[in-house]
Amino acid sequence: MKKVLFNLTDGELNQFVIDMGLPRFRAKQIREWLNRGAPDFSVMKNLPIDLREKLNQVAETLPVKIVQKLESKDNQTTKFLLELNDCEQIECVLMRTTYGNSVCVSSQAGCAMGCKFCASTLLGLKRNLTINEMFAQVLVAQWELRGDKLNDTRPNGDANNNDVSHIVVMGTGEPLQNTENVIGFLERANNELNISWRRITVSTCGIVSGIDALNTWGRPINLAISLHAPDDDLRTQIMPINNRYKIAEVLDAAFRFSDTHNRQLMIEYILLGKKNADGEIELFNSSPEHAEKLSNLMRGHNVMVNLIPWNAVDERDFASISGNAVHRFQDILIKNGVHTRIRRERGADIGSACGQLRLKNAKR
Ligand code: SF4
Repeated sequence: MKKVLFNLTDGELNQFVIDMGLPRFRAKQIREWLNRGAPDFSVMKNLPIDLREKLNQVAETLPVKIVQKLESKDNQTTKFLLELNDCEQIECVLMRTTYGNSVCVSSQAGCAMGCKFCASTLLGLKRNLTINEMFAQVLVAQWELRGDKLNDTRPNGDANNNDVSHIVVMGTGEPLQNTENVIGFLERANNELNISWRRITVSTCGIVSGIDALNTWGRPINLAISLHAPDDDLRTQIMPINNRYKIAEVLDAAFRFSDTHNRQLMIEYILLGKKNADGEIELFNSSPEHAEKLSNLMRGHNVMVNLIPWNAVDERDFASISGNAVHRFQDILIKNGVHTRIRRERGADIGSACGQLRLKNAKR
């Protein structure tokens, strides 16, 4: 297996160049390219061409390699299928928005949580990602934005158009089943890439011990809860984690976190329909009664409910609901004083819902 230079400490990288019979300053040059997200050695323009070729034969730059890259028609979203060193695959998405460039990072290869509407869990959990593997996803996006140009972060720390400015840990996997590495990764992103805490979001299906661990960690990041149902009966049907942690317990921990850090809590809510025996679509978790129940859970708290119209996953037997039903649901939340917005899945033309790219590739 080739050595992954990004994973080496500075001392180990020094030793690596010495072992190759190279002068020490090459280690510094290589490190600078690695920190910019260089996908291979051929882009390292200040190294002699024969050295770049030699390095390509014996080593890799990053612990993730692009297998597939899909660009949305509006050029605002790029989806990457990435391969890790042990050939596991993950997805990562770069979203160019009006407020900055956001990267959706995976925290695990696969997922053990078994949510019934999700493609990422269909092959089970393979393993946790390392700090470097999560960090490298951001560097892949950074390279996509900036290529070999140097970082030109403004003196006030604000990101430029060519910088990753936001991180959401919302890709494949449950971040709070890999809490220690996720925290290590976010500390690095804050330190080394200057991404402020308020521009970082961690999304969980509701692992209460993990939310408490984030609280103890004490950084004022944003927390998102994948709720997707307004009562325990319904939630248990689609999210097995609800057998372990009930809604009241999850929301208690989440409100505690957001109150402590003075942040607005994000609630993710996929609006699902289901076909009945006659082939008609019934509102699974998206009826007016469900909206009233959800309002009751949210009342009096500083929350933003993101309503996500269901995006078809071939392997899952849910159905999309009508635009009218989506708006009726939202109107009820608004009438009850709950902040809410409808979130369309970005880049719908490039690979449908989260997790499907990985799944399709694995089936080939
Ligand atoms: S929604 Fe998130 S937690 Fe649930 S199975 Fe998918 S990746 Fe895992």
